[in-house]
Amino acid sequence: MSNFCKEAVDISHKWQYGEATWKQRWQLRFHLLICKACAGFSRKNSKLTHLCQDAHLHQLSEAEKSAMKKRLSQAN
Ligand SMILES: [Zn+2]
Repeated sequence: MSNFCKEAVDISHKWQYGEATWKQRWQLRFHLLICKACAGFSRKNSKLTHLCQDAHLHQLSEAEKSAMKKRLSQAN
């Protein structure tokens, strides 16, 4: 772990909320290439984001769910 690791975690959180500057994004990308610890964290972090998005799906009303199912079956 380098000194940048803690900052990298902060930036990845900001990135999720669209608050990271382009400079921070590049710093983070470069850091992920050289730091296995942060690359692993970043993967876990994006998994967490997916879980949150799934949780939102479960909060949909029945009408919204069936509308979504209809849309999905039409897509197939
Ligand atoms: Zn790191």
